[in-house]
Amino acid sequence: MPKLVVGLGISGRAIARFLQQRGEHFVVADTRIEPPGIDAFREAYPDVEIHLGDLATLDLSAFAEIVVSPGVDLDKSGLNPVRDRIIGEISLFARHCEAPIVAITGSNAKSTVTTLVGDMARQAGKRVAVGGNLGAAALDLLIDQPDAELFVLELSSFQLETLSSLGASCAAFLNLSADHLDRHGDMERYRRAKARIFESAVHVVVNADDPATWPDNPSLPCERFTTQLPTGEAWGIAIPASVPGESGAPGEWLCHGQQPLMPVSELGLAGRHNQANALAAMAIGHVIGVSVAVMRGVLTQFAGLPHRGEVVAERDGVRWINDSKGTNVGATLAAIAGLGETLTGRVIWLGGGVGKGADFTPLAAPLARHAREAIVFGQDAGLLVAALESQVATCRVDTLLQAMRRAASIAEPGDCVLLSPACASLDQFPNYLARGESFRKILEQGQEAAC
Ligand code: ADP
Repeated sequence: MPKLVVGLGISGRAIARFLQQRGEHFVVADTRIEPPGIDAFREAYPDVEIHLGDLATLDLSAFAEIVVSPGVDLDKSGLNPVRDRIIGEISLFARHCEAPIVAITGSNAKSTVTTLVGDMARQAGKRVAVGGNLGAAALDLLIDQPDAELFVLELSSFQLETLSSLGASCAAFLNLSADHLDRHGDMERYRRAKARIFESAVHVVVNADDPATWPDNPSLPCERFTTQLPTGEAWGIAIPASVPGESGAPGEWLCHGQQPLMPVSELGLAGRHNQANALAAMAIGHVIGVSVAVMRGVLTQFAGLPHRGEVVAERDGVRWINDSKGTNVGATLAAIAGLGETLTGRVIWLGGGVGKGADFTPLAAPLARHAREAIVFGQDAGLLVAALESQVATCRVDTLLQAMRRAASIAEPGDCVLLSPACASLDQFPNYLARGESFRKILEQGQEAAC
């Protein structure tokens, strides 16, 4: 019996490529009548049967196994009744991957930590393949880097939802805050999807400050990180009395238990949230055997990925920061708090888009503390106004360009204009990258100044 591949996005195409390479018989389906790239797919797989549109018209009993892409909502696509025959792309990956796996999830900071761990492993001389929800799909890595001795994967809740047993050498759950509730229904289902990363793991890394990241099985070997003083063998931040070989009084250091590892001031990344990310990466690096010297070198050099707290322009004493990847409330809270503390002026916050069912009220208090004004745009701007206007000056506009013009007209020297929308971008942009690029382009062309 053939397999059925559902979904024709990046992961679906990787699943098809993988099955083709293994010589397996499969059929492909997508609920969209005209999924992007369908013509190229037909050309590349002339012998593969393709079913487009409602899955209800397919006889699902004709398939031995149904491999779903992470973009497919099992509830909405009517696949739940055949749940026992469904596997996800990452289960397929785990079934065929023979090298050790480092798996990283969380509501935020996945890409940053995955990139750091990949760099650390590479600098330590390992042949490492890095991807998953970031860059190349996991199954593409398996085909293209067959001699990799380590796979470092960023995994989203959508990828983890259908995972049975990953067996990661090291599984890290970084943090949990509301996101994708339109798909998962509630926080507990969202958390449970992410916690599947721990299935058959050898070692886990969790956030000591966020109990939602802790595994149900307390006997798993576990590294804990915190941005507080570390207790026991946790990875945390302390001001050591002295550090051998260092002159002068030390400031804050990243520490493993009592052992100082590197000064916070040496980090290439800014903000408290990124100190948590550095500690998480070090804890993972430690589990996979990377030396402190190598990890310190990587953390000194790494200045961050584009669209994550990226300073795009500085004009008349005002910094313009692109944090377009801040697509949920937790990310935006971290960005506002991380930045707000460092300013002589105020934050002018630009946010809005598709809120994915999230509660925006947690943004009100930090914005009241740090913001000159909250300027909101896009589909869920009305929800943002309702959540914020009693505590912070709020201005509603239609587009990002109008928001930037408003920001330019009220900014004072020392302020920072922060695009960290707490929302997905799909109402007005193809994705968060396009939103960030649009922010950059408007600044490059000076369009924000025109009124
Ligand atoms: P992800 O891949 O999980 O989306 P990224 O590394 O791309 O994570 O970062 C996304 C956003 O998350 C950043 O733009 C930043 O606003 C926010 N962020 C970064 N680190 C943290 C953290 N430790 N806790 C909460 N938010 C964070």
